[in-house]
Amino acid sequence: MTVILDRDGPYCVWCSAPLDHSRNQPTNEHLVPRIKGGPSWLENELAACKRCNNERGHQSPAGWLHDCMGMGRTPRTDVIIGALERLQQAIRERGGQRRARPYIDSQLRRLRRM
Ligand SMILES: [Zn+2]
Repeated sequence: MTVILDRDGPYCVWCSAPLDHSRNQPTNEHLVPRIKGGPSWLENELAACKRCNNERGHQSPAGWLHDCMGMGRTPRTDVIIGALERLQQAIRERGGQRRARPYIDSQLRRLRRM
């Protein structure tokens, strides 16, 4: 988790709330849900607050980001797009992840239009 917070900053990706180990503990959020073929790689992990992580469930990044905006939250769209691009690049280099590839492509198309 420290690596993720150092990489992306200590804020929830879905609501921008500050995360710290005393008041608002960070949780490990899978960008591409595991059931959608998301790998257990650092590139597929983001930090989110417990509330956003629980409420998202298995929703897609673009779908849940849209919902968050509808609820008046301020998602970190640039961080989420950057993470998807980083994951896309990691898959290109390492291969495999056939299920996640088209999912990431379509998510990036939706997010870039938002
Ligand atoms: Zn949050």
